[in-house]
Amino acid sequence: MTDQAPRLRSRLAPSPTGALHLGNARTFAINWALARQRSWELVLRIEDLDHPRVKPDTIDLTREDLAWLGLDWDLELPLQSTDLVAAHEAMRRVAQLGRAFPCNLTRREVEAAQSAPHGRDAGVRYEPELRPEGAGRPIQAPDLDGTWRFLVRPEIEVVDDCVQGPHAFNLAESVGDFPIWTSSGPAYQLAVAVDDARHGISDVVRGDDLLPSAARQQALLRTLGRPTPRWWHVPLVRGEDGRRLAKRHGDSRLATFRSRGVEPGRIMALIARWSGIDLADRCHLSARQFAEEFRIERLPDADITMTQEDLSWLLHG
Ligand code: GLU
Repeated sequence: MTDQAPRLRSRLAPSPTGALHLGNARTFAINWALARQRSWELVLRIEDLDHPRVKPDTIDLTREDLAWLGLDWDLELPLQSTDLVAAHEAMRRVAQLGRAFPCNLTRREVEAAQSAPHGRDAGVRYEPELRPEGAGRPIQAPDLDGTWRFLVRPEIEVVDDCVQGPHAFNLAESVGDFPIWTSSGPAYQLAVAVDDARHGISDVVRGDDLLPSAARQQALLRTLGRPTPRWWHVPLVRGEDGRRLAKRHGDSRLATFRSRGVEPGRIMALIARWSGIDLADRCHLSARQFAEEFRIERLPDADITMTQEDLSWLLHG
């Protein structure tokens, strides 16, 4: 008998906080192409934990948009919010290991204590002097109705990214102890790390705005004794002002193009042009052709700018 390597697995992990736009579509298309090229199993995991921002009617729309574009998946996992037992267990484990402490400070209070800005990606840093007395002691039965932070150690976390190369993060310097539990349940960093581990995700492909999060997720996974996935952080599509795609850049929602009769192949052609594929004079590409022609080595290093010409080319040719 021959040993068979376990099948690698990746995930499409949309948050249903709005309709998918061209930037989301490009990242998902790249994830899908890598999975199909390399025979990874691909699962869909809809991440509906971002409570105030989740719009339940976009859950079905997300599935429809992906399918319309020709991106399929092998299995859909339960909605994240319906399956939180593992997150509760992980939170208890982290507290029992002395790596979490309760924190009821508001964002404003944490911000007010900050001595200086700590770099582009850091957001607000939690200063070590804010730690409550006794932080770092094991807590056997944490009260999960409250909010909790992960106790960060002064270590360098190297994220060895398949697209961006190695990046070193000093979490203690940049973000400090970061939130892992809120009064309404697991915070993003814990939820996603736990789910990737228990779902056996070997390859995480997503926008490079989440590269700093990978460092936090690695630190959590190591604490939990779980392996780190391979990371593939791809540059984002931005508006002409350099900011993340938003309404002010024009309506780039897939649902809008769909309702206006634009062919999905035309969207894929634009995504292909944005992904380093030579279109020659083609203005349609199927998802399958995209997967055949996509080469991760040819993915542009820089962010992509969506222009008004791109939008009018989709609508009017
Ligand atoms: N659901 C997250 C988002 O849409 C992505 C999380 C992840 O890929 O880790 O922003």
